[in-house]
Amino acid sequence: MTRLSSDLSPLIRVPSSSSSSEFKSDLQTKTNGGKNIVASSSPGLRSSGSIRKIMNTTSTTSQQQKQSAHQQSSIINNDNDDPFAKKYDNCIVGAGLSGSVIAEQYATNLGQTSLIIEKRHHIGGNCYDYVDADTNILVNLFGAHLFHTKHERVWEYVQKFAEWVPYEHKVLGKVNGKIVPIPVNIDTVNALFDLDIQTTEEMNVWLKKEQVEFKDDDGNTRAPLNSEEVALTRVGQRLYDLIFKPYTFKQWAKYPAELGPEVLSRIPVRNDRDGRYFSDPHQALPKGGYTSIFERMLDDPKITVVTNTDYFEVKDRLKCDRVYYTGPIDSYFADLGWPKLEYRSLSFERVVQEDTPGYFQQAAVVNHPQNVDAENGKEVDYTRIVEYKRMLNQTSDSTIYFIERSKDGGEPYYPVPNKENKDLYKRYQEMAEKEEGVTFVGRLANYKYFNMDDAILNALELFNEDTKDMAKRRG
Ligand code: UDP
Repeated sequence: MTRLSSDLSPLIRVPSSSSSSEFKSDLQTKTNGGKNIVASSSPGLRSSGSIRKIMNTTSTTSQQQKQSAHQQSSIINNDNDDPFAKKYDNCIVGAGLSGSVIAEQYATNLGQTSLIIEKRHHIGGNCYDYVDADTNILVNLFGAHLFHTKHERVWEYVQKFAEWVPYEHKVLGKVNGKIVPIPVNIDTVNALFDLDIQTTEEMNVWLKKEQVEFKDDDGNTRAPLNSEEVALTRVGQRLYDLIFKPYTFKQWAKYPAELGPEVLSRIPVRNDRDGRYFSDPHQALPKGGYTSIFERMLDDPKITVVTNTDYFEVKDRLKCDRVYYTGPIDSYFADLGWPKLEYRSLSFERVVQEDTPGYFQQAAVVNHPQNVDAENGKEVDYTRIVEYKRMLNQTSDSTIYFIERSKDGGEPYYPVPNKENKDLYKRYQEMAEKEEGVTFVGRLANYKYFNMDDAILNALELFNEDTKDMAKRRG
């Protein structure tokens, strides 16, 4: 692969002084007039180091940021020609999981060419990771990405692009001043309610007493209709009020009752001491990071990638037999002037803590469901804190963690699954079905929150479906 820009390297060291917009998305770093500052531990956070040094990273103006983003524009596998002069079998909008899998499949299985047009400066979509320059720790730019799957096809597929290190993700939550396992298990309940449950049978009895049942008009038990009902049927009112209601409101600016059942269905409840966040048989992290997976997937002379390029600005210059669009479906149909679909976004506050050969917190991810820290009465406006050093057994004299907050606007992360958005999406979907020669694929185009494995499986299946006839002709 001809790489014209070093910013695509998976292990590139991103200097903290250039955590400018093209790198950081909504990443913020504590600043203090251009000087490093030393701050006391933030409310409710236990610091394992003696002091917490918050690194200033802002030294570029927004104009400089724009220029550097422009300079980093890159073309991969195009021999420096005008990438738009050629004709391709496929034009693919977006170099995230869906777009990259589609391009890889066309190249590998059918020898077809693809041009990928990527708006951001990098490949990999929200999976993009890099090595932080201050700490030498591999971090995700867009929040923690934990790979897990029950789909053998997906597991087999990803083996081609990385060496995978087994990793069973564990999450802790700070609730009522205590650090407890999430999802809820025996230890969570014992800690929060001062109980001594020992066995699965005892836990089942306890859960049964807590759980709420919903009945239909005929008195039969019915399925939960929204996320509040999901949580109440699983863990009951008390745990719902402590862990799920406040976290969900911070995350979505909506109460669980206002969101479809799929949001809280993601989190299981356990009747044993299993502290794993996921239950899938395959749980692992790519040894060299996610970005290198994308590099390998796209490392084919039949695939050309143009970054820093808005599809809508170059659309008229493209020559391709078919288009795969992985961006937000409402952006594609912006000319209709319809209401926009709602997306929830995230911001990340980056904190480097020096003189910390160990860790800042007790798990890679600690959730903070409550709005107030019970220990000190201070407001907690963030949802979780991620410490990447705990993933892939990384070592460093420092540590780095990201305080995650949710917000409106910015990069679209989460489709918001309520009735209004689902109805509006259906209208967009009807338009998409009529769009000749364009296939809408992925999380944003389907307005559905895919996990990484869902996105891969969906793209693989879509490729099979779209190429059934071509495969027959070849075979
Ligand atoms: N959630 C919660 N409390 C928690 C963890 C999760 O209420 O401690 C809810 C919240 O609404 C969140 C959803 O469960 O959006 C899904 O959680 P998950 O960890 O899967 O979210 P993601 O990692 O995808 O942001």
